[in-house]
Amino acid sequence: MLFPSPGPEPKTDLFIAGQWRPGVSGKRFAVYNPATEAVIAHVADAAIADGASALDAAEDASVRWAATAPRRRAEILRCAFDLMMEQAEPLARMIVEENGKALADARSEIAYAAEFFRWYSEEAVRVFGDIGLAPGGRNSIVVDHQPVGIALLITPWNFPAAMATRKIAPALAAGCTCILKPAEATPLTALAIAAILQEAGVPAGAVNVVTTSSSAAVVGAMLKDPRLRKLSFTGSTAVGRTLLRQAADQVIDCSMELGGNAPFIVFEDADIDAAVADAMIAKMRNGGEACTAANRFYVQRGVADEFTGKLTERMAALQVGNGLDDGVELGPLIDRRACERIDALVREAVEGGARLLTGGRIVPGKGHFFEPTVLCDVPAGARLLHEEIFGPVAPVVAFDDEDEVVAKANDTEYGLVAYVHTRDIGKGLRVARRIETGMVGLNRGLVSDPAAPFGGCKQSGIGREGGQHGIMAFLEPRYVAVTL
Ligand code: NAD
Repeated sequence: MLFPSPGPEPKTDLFIAGQWRPGVSGKRFAVYNPATEAVIAHVADAAIADGASALDAAEDASVRWAATAPRRRAEILRCAFDLMMEQAEPLARMIVEENGKALADARSEIAYAAEFFRWYSEEAVRVFGDIGLAPGGRNSIVVDHQPVGIALLITPWNFPAAMATRKIAPALAAGCTCILKPAEATPLTALAIAAILQEAGVPAGAVNVVTTSSSAAVVGAMLKDPRLRKLSFTGSTAVGRTLLRQAADQVIDCSMELGGNAPFIVFEDADIDAAVADAMIAKMRNGGEACTAANRFYVQRGVADEFTGKLTERMAALQVGNGLDDGVELGPLIDRRACERIDALVREAVEGGARLLTGGRIVPGKGHFFEPTVLCDVPAGARLLHEEIFGPVAPVVAFDDEDEVVAKANDTEYGLVAYVHTRDIGKGLRVARRIETGMVGLNRGLVSDPAAPFGGCKQSGIGREGGQHGIMAFLEPRYVAVTL
């Protein structure tokens, strides 16, 4: 195995019932570094039987974990936070190796990911019910919350640490046992997090990690098992739809964090330099591979040239390369397919009349690099205004008035996040309320915060993660009727 990072040797086996196991088939799949295309590890390839073993383990642990005192659960989660922060640097480097993002982005991800352990250690002891008098005056309505049951957590490759902890932490805090199925491209970070949880004192079977190259088969079988009570999925809208259909058979409780198509709106009265700085964050954090990435820039006509010129200058100056190298700000995309998909989106837009201001090409040679790209005069029908780009491409469109830009922002099946820049806070709030998204960044390029409810409406998802809302996704209200 080739793994040049400092730090402990990465875990590459399945984590089931507190044990590291090779899986029943003994097969393994390769994990690649997208900057070099080198194989960095061979990870155990779970079969359907391993998914069933993980469910057995989660079931065996479930009664004890649900009965574990909230204070004890909180202490374990707090310990996981401390351990993750102690290991922040090797973990960040592991993320760069398997995902490709720039080291600064990986470091931010680890801090964000660890924070979910701390936040839910604090929430574990604050799950309150309520008690009320029925309107007739003779009965009492007593409500408390119980763990929803065994949870399957499915995560994408773009934030391999944070998407895992954003689910594991509230599940454990709520008293649920769980099975994490990470993305095939980035299993090493998920396994490293399992090792941290084991060290923090999570009992055997409370968290299990199943890595596989046969997600559809392994997950499909688990969704047929009546012991599974919760599915928490983060990934594309297309896969989310498939899983919702499959979950319907057992009426499994589903939380869905799906794709986005975020508009970034700049009004003429905005502070343009601040808007450009936030545009760089909203577009380029994680190399554009974020569900929250600004996908379309709508700029009021009077400031369109100034904004686009300044944005182009910043994008063209970005240093592209291996995320581990000093000074690199933009790493590779996850794989060749992603490069080719984005290349096609850019070419189609240019053929349709868009003007290319910088970038626009796959970088030749080893690694899946795409140039930081800015396009203007993008025609309304261009596919890159309607599909998730998921890469370093910024299309700019000029607009004239508020009604027009609100209509354009809402002209999508997605509804995750929008960004609005204006010095008029009243207008900003009004526009934020008119846009159909779960989140709005008002004069901000970043909305993610473990203490806030993250999630979308329309086809961007169902439910919220983070904040006080996140733990409720793993709890079920229980009402007890009492005659007084
Ligand atoms: P994806 O949908 O291809 O895969 C997500 C996960 O589902 C992976 O673990 C994958 O192995 C698994 N999977 C794929 N097909 C499956 C099937 N048929 N049955 C069961 N499991 C299956 O998404 P991706 O390419 O890994 O991630 C990118 C997507 O994730 C983007 O659309 C992005 O917007 C979205 N995302 C959303 C959020 C959010 O919070 N809303 C956060 C991060 C990423």
